Amino acid sequence: MLLQHATWPEVESYLESNKGIIIPIGSTEQHGPSGLIGTDALTAEVIGQRLGKATGAFVAPTLNYGMAQHHMAFTGTVTLQPSTMIAVTRDIVMSLVRHGFERIFFVNGHGGNVNSVKAAFSEVQSELVEAKGLRDGGSNHPPDDVRLELHNWWMGEKTTALRKSLYGDREGYHATPSEVAVTWFSFPEQKRDVELGPLEKIKRAYQGPEDFRKLFPDGRMGSDPSLATVEDGERLVLLAVGELAERYRQFLRED
Ligand SMILES: [Zn+2]
Repeated sequence: MLLQHATWPEVESYLESNKGIIIPIGSTEQHGPSGLIGTDALTAEVIGQRLGKATGAFVAPTLNYGMAQHHMAFTGTVTLQPSTMIAVTRDIVMSLVRHGFERIFFVNGHGGNVNSVKAAFSEVQSELVEAKGLRDGGSNHPPDDVRLELHNWWMGEKTTALRKSLYGDREGYHATPSEVAVTWFSFPEQKRDVELGPLEKIKRAYQGPEDFRKLFPDGRMGSDPSLATVEDGERLVLLAVGELAERYRQFLRED
């Protein structure tokens, strides 16, 4: 169920028996010569919305922008500063908590978001602790019942194993064949047939956007997205949704 397609009385009645919500979170950033700029947001949205269907959970609108500073030397990338990202994540969570959501499950499509989202979780938690101290009790939604989790869709044990078996070392770290496969499965009309250059080996850590482009001139980081297929994308989506659904159900039950 999409939060955007619900009415407020529907959300209110859902909350009588279910405190969980899923939030897809991605990025708008270059993904090499064959990957879509929206890859991280699209993969998180497709998997997050299927997860919502599988578990009967509400799915909030996708956060399409993320922390993509290191991709800014490539045209079309849009980034939030880490401090903006923390503030946006905090505001979304606090709004949902105010209404009584207590299990907030982020499905993430972009590794660069992790630090900022986790920092936002810390801010929310300290704010809730402080609010609890000021509260005079009797609330229906005790703030210490709020739980927040962030899951990178590609990091589940089985999903990781499938990626490894499909692509081995050619999976790489950015513009990976697995994320490209998920977008091609989801939007087959967007499939690109682009000749790619040789794989760049990762020699050292990059220092900012210009250096990133110097080390990885076409935007890929050690990945070979030409291996991606629509069929692989389907397998990855189904497996990731299954794994996340298992975790989400457990997350709802935990006290
Ligand atoms: Zn990506």
